[in-house]
Amino acid sequence: MKEKDIQKTKSAIQNADNIVITCHKGPDGDAVGSTMALYLYLKKKDKNIQVIVPNNFPDFLKWIPKTDTILIYDENIEEANTHIESADLIFSLDYNALHRTGMMQDALKNATANFIMIDHHQQPDDYAIVTYSDTSICSTCQMVYHFIDYLEDINLIDTDIAQCIYTGIMTDTGSFRFRSTTSTTHRVIANLIDTGIDNAKIHQNVYDSNSYNRLQLLGLSLTNLKVIPELNTAYITLSAKELQKFNAQKGDTEGVVNYALSLKGIKLAVIFKEDANENLIKMSFRSKGNFSVNEFARTHFNGGGHTNAAGAVSDLSFQDTITKFISILPTYKNELK
Ligand code: 5GP
Ligand code: MN
Repeated sequence: MKEKDIQKTKSAIQNADNIVITCHKGPDGDAVGSTMALYLYLKKKDKNIQVIVPNNFPDFLKWIPKTDTILIYDENIEEANTHIESADLIFSLDYNALHRTGMMQDALKNATANFIMIDHHQQPDDYAIVTYSDTSICSTCQMVYHFIDYLEDINLIDTDIAQCIYTGIMTDTGSFRFRSTTSTTHRVIANLIDTGIDNAKIHQNVYDSNSYNRLQLLGLSLTNLKVIPELNTAYITLSAKELQKFNAQKGDTEGVVNYALSLKGIKLAVIFKEDANENLIKMSFRSKGNFSVNEFARTHFNGGGHTNAAGAVSDLSFQDTITKFISILPTYKNELK
């Protein structure tokens, strides 16, 4: 962060009575971890703070400290709107554009509060008084660690805050294996462990909490895996009917796309999920090397994310979405070689 932004942030926090912390729709480990870390940190400064997330998040994140205080926007619209209207400072965590908050975006656009963004996605929108954006950092959670450090409060990171930050770094780096995992990331993790957290327990809480149905759904996903060898591409499809068959819960398909990417030689992997409730198709893109799924998702599906991990939604039918994807691919023949 620039010195000028640090000073601006300090006085914005000092002058704020009501603070709201938000994250993107479909909150993941980094979104929930970073919002709760910031919440716990600002609580120490005796502020009125409310975390509001656009919609519910997976059960495997519900052990994270104080998540029971989170307000879920689409289940408490009126109450959430009141908080947003009366806020004088709103944090955007782990997203770079207000539309990423889904149905919460109108309330945020109408808010009179100042915004501070802490985020690591590419091409952030310009609506905050402070935009702490760094696409080279693996996770918003690691950025919250640096943020607290910039505000000269590193000694306020206790075991609860450390658990939150650890979770988001772990989930956004694929357990410390993606290229975004730097020596600084490992240093931050070492400092977090030194606060006394049980890091093995965090892995267990997040990854060893599968239901039988979830594993069966994984089995079906692998059965549905298709490969286009000449384009080094693999994709998985899950129709609404298939998701219903295994009573799929929020988060049950998280990480499934990585199995497609784990095939030898594959450079581009995709999962297509049919969401019957919202009447749309959710896509997750993953890549290896220089192929930018951020650009791909932006150009063809109005989505975005990072170079090697991005997402988008399509309002075409399930089959038409897959057909569109397959028809676009040959134009990337050289990049995917
Ligand atoms: P995932 O595939 O795990 O849902 O998301 C991968 C990355 O892409 C995340 O960083 C996420 O924030 C971003 N992302 C996911 N879905 C969308 C989307 O619909 N639009 C945009 N702009 N980004 C997305
Ligand atoms: Mn993230």
